[in-house]
Amino acid sequence: MKKWVVANWKMNGSQDLLNAYKNAFSNLDNLIVCPPFVYIDKFGINLGAQNVHHLPNGAYTGEISAQMLADVGINYCLVGHSERRQFFNESDDLVKAKAVQCQESGITPIICIGESLSDYLNGQTSQVLSQQLNNCFPSSLKFWIAYEPLWAIGTGKTPTMSEIAAVHDMLRSHLPNVVLLYGGSVSSANAAEIFTISNVNGVLVGGASLDIETITKIYDFA
Ligand code: PEP
Repeated sequence: MKKWVVANWKMNGSQDLLNAYKNAFSNLDNLIVCPPFVYIDKFGINLGAQNVHHLPNGAYTGEISAQMLADVGINYCLVGHSERRQFFNESDDLVKAKAVQCQESGITPIICIGESLSDYLNGQTSQVLSQQLNNCFPSSLKFWIAYEPLWAIGTGKTPTMSEIAAVHDMLRSHLPNVVLLYGGSVSSANAAEIFTISNVNGVLVGGASLDIETITKIYDFA
């Protein structure tokens, strides 16, 4: 079964990168691209947003609602990415409200969870993730999860394959039918091995998604 590849450009990219994606990928149903809002466009690839407001509409200058995302054909949206939690103080409650907005507009929220380095070193990973599971997840199970250890994002470090497998087994035991992604320093060097882990349904790729050759290699492994 094909695995998913979700490319999160973060606040990076350009019209050139968009064109490179258009040339490299077309009509691929297991690739989702999350460019910055200004590059969101329909070009034959599944599109995701990197963020959404937690209310349906109103006087919130500069914000974008889930209804608007749906209106322009967006099918997926990252919510609760650790950079949003860290730099924009997003709480579990806010993440849950955003996920609910997405669901109400027919968008699949990709809810990001992950432990800090100190949680990891103190053996607290399962507890932290269980707490996030309880706090962030809406009652409807129409969401995906991206497990992204905070200490692995953009660092070149990853958990061992058996650690990734153990976390995904734990998540799967709670959520039998939810798509589970791994994210955190996925590269062309480790993607093939990560894809062999049975409860990993795909990967969320940050930095490596900015290089068209690298993301193409990762996609080919999927
Ligand atoms: C991310 O930001 O979701 C991410 C996984 O980043 P990177 O691949 O660069 O670690």
